[in-house]
Amino acid sequence: SSKQSVTVIGLGPMGQAMVHALLGKGHQVTVWNRTPSRADALVARGAVLAKSAEDALSANELVVLSLTDYDAMYAVLEPASHALAGRVLVNLSSDTPKKTRAGARWVSEHGGVHLTGGVNASPSGIGQPGSSTFYSGPRQVFDAHRSTLEVLTGTDYRGEDPGLAALLYQMGMVMFWTSTLSYWQVIALADANGLTATDVLPHATETMTGMPDFLSFYAERIDAGEHPGDVDRLAMGMASVEHVLHTNADAGVDTTLPAAVAALFRRGMDAGHAADSFSSLVELMKTAKA
Ligand code: NDP
Repeated sequence: SSKQSVTVIGLGPMGQAMVHALLGKGHQVTVWNRTPSRADALVARGAVLAKSAEDALSANELVVLSLTDYDAMYAVLEPASHALAGRVLVNLSSDTPKKTRAGARWVSEHGGVHLTGGVNASPSGIGQPGSSTFYSGPRQVFDAHRSTLEVLTGTDYRGEDPGLAALLYQMGMVMFWTSTLSYWQVIALADANGLTATDVLPHATETMTGMPDFLSFYAERIDAGEHPGDVDRLAMGMASVEHVLHTNADAGVDTTLPAAVAALFRRGMDAGHAADSFSSLVELMKTAKA
């Protein structure tokens, strides 16, 4: 076939979905995974299971990594590192910008090229329209492989810095993990009051749907360095956050999350921001707590 052949290393839910998408578009795919049985269904569909990580690297120029983190990359590729020369490693494993920069350096020291990816999709979104991945690294290499990478998800190339895709991805995850935890909090509170997740779903959805306007309203004021208390005052926010904390405490559910929020508001009050907007908390959050 005229389609570029690809190696995929790492067959968790993500890697498996990626291999299915590539096979579905007619690409030849070589796979490797620490636990070989995870390749069974893929081999049944036509993927080739390499005998070793080294063989997997040697099979194709384009090598997609889908591992838990960058430590897993070293665990898998260090014993096979001489086979990295001439490879394009598209690392779609999550990790910190710092680790991705070090990883990119390590790959290039072994004669390979590293592209960082941050996948903004769940396994079910792989190969589906509407999903997207941040990429960063050498532009020419990205351009050369773009059409194959677009079999996995849409591509959003952000720049040369190998840490950039990871940074943008982790920013998304800051919001994803904390906002989904806020949803679990609501469900725990609902349960303590005889309501189900399905009961509260419309209200939770409405709250989330209101967020974009809210974000853009504050972005302009924050970038202007302004935190006027004309719309909201931190003192009001402090009282409100305590109502949230006490509602959860009274219901006998876990209060870790609302207590952490209240602690941040308390710091803002102690720093003298009672009459400012609660966006003034951003200024405190710009430095690690002493
Ligand atoms: P998993 O953590 O479930 O699987 C990743 C793979 O890493 C498995 O193949 C596993 O091998 C391998 N692995 C982990 N540690 C080692 C090690 N020390 N040595 C060798 N192999 C190792 O992840 P997912 O498939 O769910 O996701 C892959 C990446 O994509 C992650 O970085 C994740 O954060 C990111 N991601 C995941 C999303 C999701 O919804 N699942 C969404 C967006 C991004 P083995 O099978 O042998 O255990």
